[in-house]
Amino acid sequence: TNIDSVKVAVRVRPFSQREIEAGSHCVISMNCDCTTIYDPRNQGHEKTFNFDLAYWSHDGFVKDKDGLLVPSGAGSRYADQKKVFHDLGEGVLKSAWQGYNATLLAYGQTGAGKSYSMIGYGANRGIIPIICEELFQAIRKSQEKKIQYQVTFSMLEIYNEQVIDLLRKAKKKGGLKVRENQQQGFYVDGLKLVPCESYAQIERLMEQGVRIRTTASTSMNATSSRSHVVITIHFKQIFLEEDLTKQSSINLVDLAGSERQKISGSEGDRLREGTCVNLSLTTLGNVISALAEAAMGKKTVYIPYRDSVLTKLLQPALGGNSKTIMVAAISPADICYEETLSTLRYAERAKKIENKAVVNATPTQ
Ligand code: ADP
Ligand code: MG
Repeated sequence: TNIDSVKVAVRVRPFSQREIEAGSHCVISMNCDCTTIYDPRNQGHEKTFNFDLAYWSHDGFVKDKDGLLVPSGAGSRYADQKKVFHDLGEGVLKSAWQGYNATLLAYGQTGAGKSYSMIGYGANRGIIPIICEELFQAIRKSQEKKIQYQVTFSMLEIYNEQVIDLLRKAKKKGGLKVRENQQQGFYVDGLKLVPCESYAQIERLMEQGVRIRTTASTSMNATSSRSHVVITIHFKQIFLEEDLTKQSSINLVDLAGSERQKISGSEGDRLREGTCVNLSLTTLGNVISALAEAAMGKKTVYIPYRDSVLTKLLQPALGGNSKTIMVAAISPADICYEETLSTLRYAERAKKIENKAVVNATPTQ
């Protein structure tokens, strides 16, 4: 067993149209892996955080002919999708090949760039599609006849504490049930696991899932969402001559917006939405805090995994059998100062969590 802390990366995006129109100032600076945030109402007040990685994606890019955002030239600091994949995605793939579980979580306020980093838009593909593509490329390259490979894909959404299968068109009333057994821990009963043979297949499934995803636009941006999306890739290597199977679960999680939800909606539905999304995110925060305390040596800390659907499903990723990475997505703008500071504080706590990943190797059944 090796004990690893959760690895945390922070990424700052360009100004949005809305921020430009509001005449926003940038309150973030990055220097190596240090990220500093300046209080716009209190000159001289700043706070510096030291994360494992810091991505400056605020300026210094151009669009190429396909619409891909790339660094605008030599000396440009812009961290593009390729760079982020290289640092984070390749590690996930390496873990998967070794038989470790891996989890990648994107946290941050709505509109801060979670989906951009994880899934991406158009030519600017995010970490998840590139991971899937590289996985199949590596499988194809491996000429090893004595190893059989199996990949399955699933995609679900947690909305209002209900689990919705994003690969099924017909929604099950009340959502799918989360159950628990000795072998697997918590799992979603009846979730569609699609065996995949190629990246193209996964790409289609993912497009379908993104279409089905429930979105409720907020005032922040039209594509924002109050739901959590969990994509899981099960990767199995069966060593035919050795009676050995290695398996890895790769969890890729695009969390709901972290902004404090105002309980302003007059309709009951809206109200419930707000409170329940908060339940999963609040519980995630509580679990992270408890784990951070536990890691600092406070004994007998109770970890409230069972309090929400999200934390049940993420249990292995949080203090358990997984190599876990969190990407904190932030806005550069002064008008988002409070939310950004709260995201950075959250990420700082997550960094303290210690996981114990083991190689999942068993005799072939
Ligand atoms: P979230 O999923 O956190 O709500 P999005 O990923 O949808 O936010 O990002 C909001 C907007 O900002 C999108 O239009 C997206 O294209 C843009 N954006 C986010 N991150 C970046 C980035 N690193 N570089 C360029 N544009 C970005
Ligand atoms: Mg999003």
